[in-house]
Order: sequence, then C-alpha cells, then structure tokens
Amino acid sequence: MAQGDLNLPAFLATWHAWTLDPQRPTHLHVLALSHNAASVHAACRVARTTIAAYAPPIGLASAIATHSSSGQAFHALADLLQQVTDQCWGLLPGMHRLRFAHGHVTLTLCVGDSPEYAALMRQHPTGPCLPPADLGSETARTVTVIGSGISGAGTARALAERGWQVTVLDAGSTPAAGASGVPVGVIAPHTSHDDSTVSRLTRAGVRLMRHTLQTWLNEGNDWVSTGVLERRLPGKTRRGGVPLSWLNELAEVAQDWTHKAPHPAPDDAYWHAKGAWLRPAQLVRALLDHPNIRWQGHAKPDALKYVASHSNGTALGDETPFPATWQVLQAGTVLAEACRVVIAAGPGSAALVASATTDGSSPLINPVRGQISWGLMADLPHGTPLPASPVNGNGAFVHSVSTDEGPAWFVGSTFDRLNDQPDVLADDHQENHSRLAALLPDTAHVLAPLFGVPNTAQGEPTHAVANGLKTAPDAPYTVRGWAGIRCGTPDRFPVVGAVPHAPEGLWINAAMGSRGLTLALLCGEILAARWQGEPLPVEAKMAKAMDAARFTFKP
Ligand SMILES: Cc1cc2nc3c(=O)[nH]c(=O)nc-3n(C[C@H](O)[C@H](O)[C@H](O)COP(=O)(O)OP(=O)(O)OC[C@H]3O[C@@H](n4cnc5c(N)ncnc54)[C@H](O)[C@@H]3O)c2cc1C
Repeated sequence: MAQGDLNLPAFLATWHAWTLDPQRPTHLHVLALSHNAASVHAACRVARTTIAAYAPPIGLASAIATHSSSGQAFHALADLLQQVTDQCWGLLPGMHRLRFAHGHVTLTLCVGDSPEYAALMRQHPTGPCLPPADLGSETARTVTVIGSGISGAGTARALAERGWQVTVLDAGSTPAAGASGVPVGVIAPHTSHDDSTVSRLTRAGVRLMRHTLQTWLNEGNDWVSTGVLERRLPGKTRRGGVPLSWLNELAEVAQDWTHKAPHPAPDDAYWHAKGAWLRPAQLVRALLDHPNIRWQGHAKPDALKYVASHSNGTALGDETPFPATWQVLQAGTVLAEACRVVIAAGPGSAALVASATTDGSSPLINPVRGQISWGLMADLPHGTPLPASPVNGNGAFVHSVSTDEGPAWFVGSTFDRLNDQPDVLADDHQENHSRLAALLPDTAHVLAPLFGVPNTAQGEPTHAVANGLKTAPDAPYTVRGWAGIRCGTPDRFPVVGAVPHAPEGLWINAAMGSRGLTLALLCGEILAARWQGEPLPVEAKMAKAMDAARFTFKP
C-alpha cells in the first residue's frame, strides 16, 4: 500500500493485522514519503506516544491487563515499533527499504523531494501487486536458476519466498563453487563526491546484506559487523571522497554510513560504520535452504531451448493448453524444464545467453581473475601488528576469520583482467604482499618472510616491500592461496533483467565484478520485484543502470 506521508501508527497496525491474518499474502509492502531523516525520527516519537495510550496499567491490574486483547496489542505494537526504530539509521535522501519478518514485510521510505516518489505512490495504489502484462501468465510458477553463487542463491531465495518452485543447477559439486567460494569477503559502501548511482546502490546493497546476515547467519563465526577502514591511497583510479552535504547539513545522518576515520588512523582513511566481513559460502548455503528450492550439482548446461506454448490437439477437441517453457540442456539431455530461467552463472553466463538469443548476442561479460593470500592466526610471528577492523583500499586485509583449521588472516586480492584461470600463483602472492605493504606497512614487514619476500635484519621494511616490487619470485613462501574468477562489464554495473533478443521468460543476474557481496542480493530482489509487480527496492533509474538491455554484444 502507498501511504503518502509516513504514518507509522497506521503502518504498525497494518503489519500487526497482517501477522494475525491466516489468509495473509506472502508479502506486505508499504511505501511512505518523508521529508528527511529528522521527520522519520519524529514519526517514531509520535508512534511511541500513540502506542503508550494502550499500555496496560501498572500495579495489581497489570497481570490481567497484559493478557487482555488491548494489553497484547500494546506489547505487539511496541515490539514492532522497536524493530522499526532499530532500522531507522542512515536515512540519507533516497529510497530506503526497511525489512521485517524475514523480509516478508517491507517499509520503503522515500526520503527527500524527488518527483519520482509521487509517481511511485501512483504506480502502487493499495491492493495486490499486479505482475506486468508483458511478463505473461503467472499460472505456472516454476523457474530454473543456473549457477549457485551469491547471485543465483539470492535470486532463488527471493523467488522461493514468493512462492516460486525453484530448481538450481550448478556445474560444481557444492554450492558456491565459483567466486562466491572466496573464503572471506568484505562489504562496505562506495562513496563519491557526487553520490553517484553506484554509491547509492551500494548503500541499498549493504543495508539488505546486513539484514540478511543478521537473519540467517551466526554473527561471530560466519560474519562480523566490524566496520571497515578504507584507505584512499595515491594512484587509485577512483578519487573517493564524500559529498559536501555529508560534511554539512547531512553530517549527522551520513555518520551512520561513512566519515573521516579519527586519529590515529592515517589522514587518507575513511570509516564505514556498517562495513563487515562475511564467509559467502555459508550465506549461499543458508539461502538455498528453503523447501521451494531444489539444488542439483554436477549439472553444467550448455544450451537453452524455448518451447512455445501449445495444446495437445486431440481429435475430440478437448485441447489442454501447455504454457511456454524453457528447457535447460547438457549435451542434448534435458536437465530441467520450467516457465522461466535465470542465468546466474558468473563467467559462464554469456555463453548460455548466446545459446538462447535469436541472433547469438549476449551481454559483454569479461572474466577477472583474483587471488587471495592467507594463513592461520596461530602461525603469525609473535607481535604481528594487527588492525582492529578490516582495512581496504587497493586490496583488503581481514583477520580472525573462522576457518575449518582455526582463525585465519587474509590479504588480497589481485585483479587480472581477461584471465579465467583459477590456479594459485606465486607471483600473485607477491602482488598481495605489495598491496599489504601499501595498506599496512608494519604488518607487511613482519609477514614478508611468509610471502617469500626477503626482510631486512634491522627491522626496516625492505626496498622491495616499500616499493611494491616483485622480487625473489622463486623464494619459498608459506602463505596459502585461493583464486577465483569474478566477472564484470565495461561500465562495471551488474547485468540484471530480461535477456534482450530472446523469447520471453529468459532472465539474467550476473557480472557483479568486485562488489558481488554488496550487490548480488539486491539484484535478486530487483528481479523478483519485477516478476511480481512489486515496488522496486531502489529508484527506477538505478535498476535501469543495471538492466540487461543496456548493451549487447554480437560475436
Ligand atoms: C579473490 C576474490 C575476492 C573477492 N572479494 C570480494 C569482496 O571482498 N567483496 C565483494 O563484494 N566481492 C568480492 N569478490 C567478488 C565476489 O566474490 C563476486 O562478485 C561474487 O561472488 C559473484 O557471485 P556470482 O554468484 O555472480 O558468481 P559465482 O560465485 O562465480 O557463481 C557462478 C556459479 O555458476 C556456476 N556455473 C558457471 N557456469 C555454469 C554452467 N554452464 N552451468 C552451471 N553452472 C555454472 C559456477 O560453478 C558457480 O557456482 C571477490 C572475488 C574474488 C575472486
């Protein structure tokens, strides 16, 4: 329902009624406008006062009153309000989707005065969400998702939660067999002077990812909300920085996201308060664990075939209509058949798309190899200086991450365009050491011998380390490695949407580049919202920036 100006008591009452309704729809969406963050906080205070009127009396009567229907409603509404206020942080101008009840109830706050918001309210009047007419029949809600990295698992989960029967196929023997198998990853928002589309997208992505991590994983073992220190090192292509308004009128709200890191951090450092590290494979497994999702490994389709709708055409005329379906084939054998297909196969996506488009075209998706170097905390030299939180910049350093062998540290990663070989390379360990030397020179100095980089007896950083040179390529090293293939597009935005030049029902969610852990779930939600005719979780222009139709490539 579209509320217009935010009315929190009405939202809480609707949500409460939804929880009590045995016939409730799977999702409840409420859209509301608010001038700025301060007016949202004021609305929270008004709601608190309104609900307080229903508080049970204190004293002898309280035990009875607590169990009365108004007493129960008071406690329920007070609990829901607390959940809302807990999420009312970082409400910069823009759209913010607050999620409750495992994402089944959403409150989308449109903060600011963009004309798009009024149009959004008109597009989604109160009532059931209506799937767009051009998406065809919703009768048979089956889908095959190809790829079970974070993109495929996130999409599968978003659709399964909305009632779709989902088959997930993956070439690997376990989920997260590709880039999402990276042993640890960092999430943090991107910032820019003009608060660009990518900056806004990453904030929406971080908010969703944090909610998902809090809902499905154990904090401490599978992820930790550490905050992330970002160093703006010389030579980075992106200049970084934050909008001027974040230092002035929006300073208080922006603090929730990003601000200059206080002393003793280096002058170039920014602090991302909502940053975190996570073990992506754990999340992938948790997302796939849903009764509507069937996962199948060792399945490497090489072609997709559209079977148009038809009828059985018996002589008696009792023709049964069969909806159009997509067959997913491996060496001519049908692995799965469903009304729709979502390709989320990372670097394998473009070839699958090309097998299904009428002209052999596909989005331009390129592989980018990356290697991480790591070791166990127990093997660190005594007294190794360690930062309090993950540090990123041109690469990242994270420590005290759980692994099967014990807590570990990680540094990486390399960025090798147009290379799709996931072998671990000695040269890449050295490159990672150079990245560490730029980020955390003292730590790099102590760890140098583990990387096969000669260290000096005087305790000064070596010339090689200080200058990031690759020396002693054949020196022994004891760091371990993990390498994988990300994939990206020329404009660095993911590719999300209906595949152009293909029959209806073929979709893609891929090309997450180096920000898959921040963006992939958001992209899955955008896809699911489009299928269901729900309000998008981000402004339309942001979804458009990632749309699959923005470019195609014909070999
Ligand atoms: C070293 C490294 C470090 C990274 N660090 C970070 C980080 O700190 N933060 C961050 O946000 N991102 C990071 N990334 C990027 C992030 O890991 C990716 O963006 C993200 O995992 C991509 O997820 P995906 O599901 O799109 O692709 P993948 O995880 O690659 O999943 C694709 C899946 O498709 C399967 N597949 C491929 N072809 C086929 C086929 N024909 N049929 C069936 N299955 C197929 C594969 O087996 C795989 O399971 C890092 C990546 C690397 C390599």
